[in-house]
Amino acid sequence: MLTVRQLGVRYGQIEAVKGIDLAVAKGTIVALLGANGAGKSSTLLGLVGLVAASGEIELDGVSIAKAPPEEISRRGLALVPEGRRVFPSLTVAENLLLGGAVHGDRHDTKAAEEKLLDRFPILRERYRQRAGLLSGGEQQMLAIARALMSGPKLLLLDEPSLGLAPQVVDSVFDLIAELREQGLTILLVEQNAAQALEIADRGYVLVNGQIEIEGTGAELASSERVKEAYLAA
Ligand code: ATP
Repeated sequence: MLTVRQLGVRYGQIEAVKGIDLAVAKGTIVALLGANGAGKSSTLLGLVGLVAASGEIELDGVSIAKAPPEEISRRGLALVPEGRRVFPSLTVAENLLLGGAVHGDRHDTKAAEEKLLDRFPILRERYRQRAGLLSGGEQQMLAIARALMSGPKLLLLDEPSLGLAPQVVDSVFDLIAELREQGLTILLVEQNAAQALEIADRGYVLVNGQIEIEGTGAELASSERVKEAYLAA
C-alpha cells in the first residue's frame, strides 16, 4: 500500500532522515523502532507533508511526495501525533468534528462519528466535555478516534503508549491490533519495542536516520542486536 524510497528529512544542517526505504503492505502493522532522536517522528511528519521531505512516496501506486498535507489526508493517510495533541479547550465532539473536516461532507462525518462512538463508549460518555479534562488514556483514544474520522487507509501512530500507565498501554496495543483485524493498515512508531513487536507483522529499526535492521516482528524480537539495544529489561 505504501512504498517509500530514499525518504530524506533535514532541518537546516541537521539530516534527521537519511534516505530510507520502507514498505507497508495492506492490512499489516509495521513498527518503526529506534532510540530518541533516531528520526522516527521526522519520518512520519515527512510522509504526511508536515515537514519538507525528499524522495518518493507512493500510496497505492500514486505519488504523494510533495503533495500538500490536506491532499495527503484526503488520499488516506492520517497521523496521530506524538503527545496526542488533542485540542484541550475544545469538547470531545469538536475534536472529532475536526478530524472529519478533511472531506467536508457533514452527513458522512455524522455516520463516521456514530461508528466511532460505538467503538469508544467512553467518548460518548464524555462527548460534551472538554478534551483537556480526559485522562491520558482517554485522550489517546480521542486522538486515534479523531484520526479515524477521516476514514484513512493508513494510520500513522507516533508513540501512542508514551506516558500512559501499563494497563492503559495494554489497551492501546489491543486497540491497534483490533484495528488491523478490521482491515486498517498501520505504521507504528514506538519506543516500547517489546510490545510493538508482539503485534507487528514487520518492523524496521532506525539508527541516526538510517534503517539498520528490518524483518518480521518475530525476527526482530529474536535478533540479538535488537534485544541488546531495545528489549533490555
Ligand atoms: P523522539 O522519540 O525523541 O521523538 P525521533 O526518533 O522521533 O525521536 P526525531 O524527532 O525525528 O526523532 O528527531 C530526529 C533528529 O532531528 C534529532 O536530532 C532532532 O533533534 C532533530 N529535529 C527534530 N525536529 C527538529 C526541528 N523542528 N528542528 C531541528 N531539528 C529537529
